[in-house]
Amino acid sequence: MHELPECAISACRPYFREARGDFVVRKEFGYSWKVYGAGIEIHIADYLSDAPDDVLSDFCDMVCRRAKGQRCPEPPSYLDHIRSDRYIVDNRPTYIRRSRNLLRSACGEVAYLHDSVQRLLDSGLLTESDISNSYMSWTRRDNVRRVGFCSTMFRVVGISSRLDSDDVPDFVRDYVVYHECLHLRQGYRPSRRVHDAQFRSWERLFPQWREAESVLRRLGTA
Ligand SMILES: [Zn+2]
Repeated sequence: MHELPECAISACRPYFREARGDFVVRKEFGYSWKVYGAGIEIHIADYLSDAPDDVLSDFCDMVCRRAKGQRCPEPPSYLDHIRSDRYIVDNRPTYIRRSRNLLRSACGEVAYLHDSVQRLLDSGLLTESDISNSYMSWTRRDNVRRVGFCSTMFRVVGISSRLDSDDVPDFVRDYVVYHECLHLRQGYRPSRRVHDAQFRSWERLFPQWREAESVLRRLGTA
């Protein structure tokens, strides 16, 4: 893998005498560090390999502070970069390629995910801005416990192919799609609770949420 550039290494020098690191291939974005003697070794997922110098040096500054045990939030330059349409459009194809469980199609055997999205838009539960620059697909595996997931970083929603079935009513699919699209509305916000009170209050706006959850529970135990 390729080494971190000089701007990243020099951002570590105020904290560590020696620094080295590289970009590594990961499906999910992440990073790790190891402190050795007076030095630090940092591994960052390669999604950041094209980031501007200031983003990388601010990011490494954060990693070093955390390695020193300081509480340090994600730097604004990093958050702006990650949340930009450019970053998402450039990196999402890689994320999708690495997500082996994605069917890479919103069109299932019996249901089309964008029909659910359209109903949610028509009813006013979702707005166009919630789902802007997003990607939606069925999964390959028919997981019954994890019926959906959302990568807020890459704005990708996956819905379990277990729900692509005649025995699942439309409103249940709509409810699961709605839940995942609410994560898109929240956006990328690391180190914050995802299912917070705000999220739950949005979720309860879905008229048949109780029935939908009981259908999902039955699927999970069938
Ligand atoms: Zn969720």
